[in-house]
Amino acid sequence: MRPGYPTTRCGSTAGMARRSGRESVGCGGIHIPGRSACLAHVSAADRAAYLGTLSADADIDHRGTPFAV
Ligand SMILES: [Zn+2]
Repeated sequence: MRPGYPTTRCGSTAGMARRSGRESVGCGGIHIPGRSACLAHVSAADRAAYLGTLSADADIDHRGTPFAV
């Protein structure tokens, strides 16, 4: 695990409650840089802007992010 793993989690419950069938504790995805939500829960515009900054060898970190929302 990379040193400095941020402790801030997304926390969004969007799309999370139905899957678990019980009260959701919120999304465990870590924030993308400069945003207050994970890649699955930022706005479409923010997601597009972020993805636009990536290159083929980008060092991305999306631990905990639910990509199948
Ligand atoms: Zn999230």
